[in-house]
Amino acid sequence: MSEGKILVIGGAGYIGSHVVKALNESLFAVTVYDNFSTGQECNLFPDNKLVKGDILDSAKLEQTMSEGFDAVIHLAAKKAVGESMEKPDFYAKNNLIGSINIFNAMLKNGVQNIVFSSSAAVYGTPQYIPVDEQHPTNPINFYGFTKLEIEKVMNWYSELKNFNYIALRYFNAVGYAADGSVCGMEKNPQNLQPIVMENITGKREKIFVFGNDYETPDGTCLRDYIHVEDLASAHVLSVKHLMKNHSSHIFNLGTGKGTSVLEIIQSVERVTGKKVNYEIAPRRAGDPAVLTASSKSAETVLGWKPEYTNIDDIIKTVWNMELKNNGKL
Ligand code: UDP
Repeated sequence: MSEGKILVIGGAGYIGSHVVKALNESLFAVTVYDNFSTGQECNLFPDNKLVKGDILDSAKLEQTMSEGFDAVIHLAAKKAVGESMEKPDFYAKNNLIGSINIFNAMLKNGVQNIVFSSSAAVYGTPQYIPVDEQHPTNPINFYGFTKLEIEKVMNWYSELKNFNYIALRYFNAVGYAADGSVCGMEKNPQNLQPIVMENITGKREKIFVFGNDYETPDGTCLRDYIHVEDLASAHVLSVKHLMKNHSSHIFNLGTGKGTSVLEIIQSVERVTGKKVNYEIAPRRAGDPAVLTASSKSAETVLGWKPEYTNIDDIIKTVWNMELKNNGKL
C-alpha cells in the first residue's frame, strides 16, 4: 500500500528529482512527467513510472491524469531570470500556458490537489527583511511575473472549483542529495553555486562576483541558501497537508540566514581544498543587497524546518555529488 499517488511534473530536474526521492522514501507511488529539456535521465529512480511529455501538450497531460492522482507537483516552469527578459514570449507560453494546461487537465480528471514551485522572485526588491508572505509582491523580472500570475490563477481556481493548492516560494536552492543519488550537473547553469563548482571542476575558467560595494559586511550580496533536500521535505509535507486538510496556502522556504557571495566561495575552497578563480565585476542589474526569508508559516502550518543551516555542510553535499559523478577530480 502506498501513501498516495503523485504526479511530479518536472521530476527529472534538479529540484524535481530530489522531490521524487523524498516522496519515494515516504512511500508515495510517483509518476514522473518530464520533457527532458533541462531534466536528465540519470536523475530518474528505478521505482518510478515515467511519461515523456511536455506541459504544452494538453492531450498528453489529460491522458496521463486520467489514471487518477491524489496530488500533482508542478516544477516544470522555465527558470532563467536573464532569459525570461530576453524571451518573454517563450516564458509566457511555457510558464503561463503550460501551467494552465496542467490545472485544466486536473479539473477535467477530478485531481484536486497541487503543489506549485514558486519563487522569492514574486516579491521583487525587498522592502523589509526577512521577507514574509505578507510582503508586497512586485516582481522585477518576467520570470517572477509568470510565477505570481500562476499563483493568482490557482487562487481563482481554488475559489471557483474543487481545487486546492500550496505555492512554495523558494529562496536560493543549493546542495545535492547527501547520498549522491542525484547525478546533478545542470546544463548551462545560471546560479552561483553550480557556476562556482564549474570553476572547481575545470569547466569554467573564471567566475565573476557581481559587485563588492553593497552595504553588507564584506560588500557582496547576501542570499538565503536553502538545501534542496529541505525543499523536498516541504513538498512531502505539503502533499500530506493537501490530502488531509484540502486547504490552500502560500509558504516561503528559506533558512532565514544570509550568506554572502564571498562566503560561498570561501566555503567551496574549504570543502574542496581548491582555489576558486574569481574576479570582482560590476553589479548585476536587479540584485538586492540582502534577501532572506521568514518561513514561520511553513513551520507553523506544515511543521517544516530546514535541517541544513551550515553552509559547509551544504557545500559538502555538492562536492560529494561531483566526486561521485565526475570520478577523480
Ligand atoms: N552571483 C555572482 N556571480 C555569478 C552568479 C551569481 O556574483 O556568476 C551572485 C548574484 O549577484 C547574487 C548571488 O550570487 O548576489 C546569487 O545569485 P543567483 O543567480 O544564484 O540567485 P538569485 O539571488 O539571483 O536568485
